[in-house]
Amino acid sequence: MNKGVIFIISGPSGSGKDTLMVELFKKCPEIKFSISSITRAMRVGEVEGVKYNFISKEQFEQMIKEDKLLEYNSYVGNYYGTPRKPVEDEIEKGNNILIEVDVNGAAQIKEKMPEAVSMFIMPPSFEELERRLSGRGTESEELIRKRMQSSLDEIKRASEYDYIIVNDDIATAVDDIISVMRSCQLRQEKQKHIIEEVLEKC
Ligand code: 5GP
Repeated sequence: MNKGVIFIISGPSGSGKDTLMVELFKKCPEIKFSISSITRAMRVGEVEGVKYNFISKEQFEQMIKEDKLLEYNSYVGNYYGTPRKPVEDEIEKGNNILIEVDVNGAAQIKEKMPEAVSMFIMPPSFEELERRLSGRGTESEELIRKRMQSSLDEIKRASEYDYIIVNDDIATAVDDIISVMRSCQLRQEKQKHIIEEVLEKC
């Protein structure tokens, strides 16, 4: 059986990647999602175990010690990390899995698993990024400023990714992500069984 594919998705805060992912999972519910372990406080509307597992700094540091994370990073004063086992289990079962991480996390995964396919979600413009970040209304000026700086630092590293998805129009961007996923499924090494099946009958 073919192993599943790891898809890495990154995008700066304000790129609209959360909305894209919601729409993507509506269209492709078979894709697995890697639930990150994080130490930041839960935001209004977030639910434990959906996108994140909210854990303490001590619990996170224990996971680092026990090598239970595929990658991790500290972002605006909090830890964010990808638990290793669920990812390994899903790809062994032949399932495709989507991992949402920042640029540092993406680089760590690519180094360990170069076959992972990475996509960077790009906001259509700087002005739009600024508008989306200040429009949330859930965070302080100081935090918005830090997020903006961090977003710009991430955009500077977008060329490290395999694909750039511009999120100007949600439906188009979701279709673009699905096209990338579909083309990976059609790669020769994923289709070996078909070649063998056809040749067997010759
Ligand atoms: P937020 O606090 O807005 O939910 O996420 C902040 C940043 O952390 C985003 O850029 C997001 O992509 C990133 N992030 C989410 N989960 C992980 C993870 O498991 N590892 C890393 N390295 N970054 C993550």
